Amino acid sequence: MVSMLNRYVQLLKDHNLKITHQRLEILHYLNENRTHPTVEEIYSNLKKIDPSLSKTTVYNAVDTLQKNNVIQSLTISGSETRYDIKSDLHHHFLCTNCGIILDIDIACPNIKKTLHGGHKVDEVHGYFKGICSSCRKKERGST
Ligand SMILES: [Zn+2]
Ligand SMILES: [Zn+2]
Repeated sequence: MVSMLNRYVQLLKDHNLKITHQRLEILHYLNENRTHPTVEEIYSNLKKIDPSLSKTTVYNAVDTLQKNNVIQSLTISGSETRYDIKSDLHHHFLCTNCGIILDIDIACPNIKKTLHGGHKVDEVHGYFKGICSSCRKKERGST
């Protein structure tokens, strides 16, 4: 836990962000829960550990972390924003049956390129949707 904490502290330092208890808690939560939670989920789970936590503080901290690229946001499900600590570029798979969001580690070959017309690519979001393997197993099992 101490080494993890050092990692989060370093992460904030790397982005020239002030080290706050709330920011460290959020990073730790996202690192332990790779489910791509919403800010509401992050807040309600941290609130269980730290009842003094204010909703505004958590929302602001998540917003700051996202704007400074410490965490990334995704809108794969359309209606809500989800958060992910994994800052390297990867794609996402949404199961339309159970709603799980999984990381897809397929490198995008175009990311380092400059597009025709001179546009430089900083982000590529690949959203894959379908039925996840465990749902498919259940489907097969029930027939
Ligand atoms: Zn599923
Ligand atoms: Zn992810």
